[in-house]
Amino acid sequence: MTKKERYSFVIDWFQKNMPNAETELHYTDPFELLVAVILSAQCTDKRVNLVTPALFQRFPNAESLASAEFEDVEPLVRSVTFANNKTRHLIGMAKMLIEKFNGQVPGTMEELVQLPGVGRKTANVIVSVVFHQPGMAVDTHVFRVAARIGLTRDAKTPLQTEDQLVANIPRKLLSIAHHWLILHGRYVCVARNPKCAECGLRPACKYYETDMKHIAGVNE
Ligand code: SF4
Repeated sequence: MTKKERYSFVIDWFQKNMPNAETELHYTDPFELLVAVILSAQCTDKRVNLVTPALFQRFPNAESLASAEFEDVEPLVRSVTFANNKTRHLIGMAKMLIEKFNGQVPGTMEELVQLPGVGRKTANVIVSVVFHQPGMAVDTHVFRVAARIGLTRDAKTPLQTEDQLVANIPRKLLSIAHHWLILHGRYVCVARNPKCAECGLRPACKYYETDMKHIAGVNE
């Protein structure tokens, strides 16, 4: 299978089987999504969704969070990973929104990555989900699933994965493709013991092809 055929198979399959893929984080506006994505780094969306209702009730906007003390915020996010750092990032992010961006979440990568706690992945999520611009945020699921299927080759960093996916996925599908790969990685192509038996991508998956050859003792 050529690279083009592989991409074509994968995109067709996801379009048929996951036509409405979207983030599983709960939010009602760009500020809440930004807070939720910062909290979700190396943490599950499920866990983040458990803490954000109380957090958003207490700090519904950048103004309220910018004037909060560490001790006000940390107890509300204590159950997520790296709660101390994330608390500092959230307050710093809110302060910068007030000081530089009129309290609003900015809409470009260049502006977003200036915010504390916001790296390229988080910025890509905001750019694509909030501002409907093409963006491919690469988290651990996207990195792993793209490599296993064979959508990426020898990608060593999230940026290399991003570049290869952006070069091969139509611009208008980039944002949803991010959700396809995340959800597939979360529920089917899991890190340990991927559920290949129930995966519709088998015919196009390099990992599956190699694994099956290995099991059958076929030499390449
Ligand atoms: S066939 Fe297996 S390794 Fe390939 S994408 Fe599906 S679950 Fe992942």
